[in-house]
Amino acid sequence: MNKKRVLSGIRATGRLHLGNYFGAIKGMLTLQDDPEFETLYMVADLHTLTTPYQVEELRQNRREIIIDYLAAGLDPEKSILFQQSANPHHAEFAFYLSSVVTIAKMQHLPTFKDKVKQYPQYVTMALLNYPVLMAADILIYKASDVPVGIDQEPHLEVAREIARRMNQDYGTDFPEPQIFKTIGEYVSSLTGEGKMSKSVEGSYINLTDDLETIRKKIAKIPTDSGKGIIDKGVYISRSAMPNNGVVAIAPSNGVKNLMEFIELFKGKERRKELDNQYQDVGLRYSEVKNELAEAIYQELQPIQEKRQELENNPQKVDSIISVGNEKATVLASEVVKEVREKMGLL
Ligand code: AMP
Repeated sequence: MNKKRVLSGIRATGRLHLGNYFGAIKGMLTLQDDPEFETLYMVADLHTLTTPYQVEELRQNRREIIIDYLAAGLDPEKSILFQQSANPHHAEFAFYLSSVVTIAKMQHLPTFKDKVKQYPQYVTMALLNYPVLMAADILIYKASDVPVGIDQEPHLEVAREIARRMNQDYGTDFPEPQIFKTIGEYVSSLTGEGKMSKSVEGSYINLTDDLETIRKKIAKIPTDSGKGIIDKGVYISRSAMPNNGVVAIAPSNGVKNLMEFIELFKGKERRKELDNQYQDVGLRYSEVKNELAEAIYQELQPIQEKRQELENNPQKVDSIISVGNEKATVLASEVVKEVREKMGLL
């Protein structure tokens, strides 16, 4: 029986954080260990060109992300680990797929609008083409499962639409790819606002952070008086409702995020205990934050040790990358040939 294919990638824009780890890497690990799937994981270095970047940093990061993958447990014996741009077919394939997508559709995507707001001076064709290139990354391997965070859903919708159009217009047999969800499909920011993101200072914990750094970052999560009620997942502090339960100030998102982190690292039961304490005798945030910082470090420490080993063995890393690049190129070339034939280019 043919195995189902899996494709995922992370842009080469800097060090990985807990959002990448829970949203993407955890799912990548699960699927790599499932014999039903053949897994391909890349560094999306071409996607890095869609927003402002530094040339030397990109050169370094496209290698560092592979090291992060390996340190986090991705195994070159089980998964093909590669650099997107080292397989020349991705960019070529994106051009073919762009012929079945309208500009209007791309301009209306929320992800595009967000980036336009973030970088108004940098609205390039590459940025507009981001979702088409992502569809190419997935469809070029006929992948059906994509372990990425929930923020990528609009892009997966585009990939499915392109798959349908290609199948209809050219008789291809692309599966309609779906997100493979993990428990951390949306990791919140430490600031209490929005999601954890590389581009928002103070929002993230990197996989390479030491215990002291983690402690300092967790300490900054905004909290409240420590005692109150929880209404439909919203934490409302007693001090926020002085007049017979009338809420006087906005409830704290920081507390909600803190509890979500507790659930991720210490489990549902521990969160339940702390939630009960919040509604009863009250919480001492310094203790909760300390417990969380230690739990995060416990998860990250083995990854950091493995990373150190890999940094000391650059030849091994080089060889893993070049084998992965080669394998990915061979697999992609089969689908590219089929599509070129069906589109009248062969
Ligand atoms: P990026 O850094 O934008 O290339 O994202 C790489 C992967 O990490 C994608 O699968 C994202 O969906 C995922 N990701 C990034 N930030 C978060 C977050 N805060 N929560 C969950 N997943 C995330």
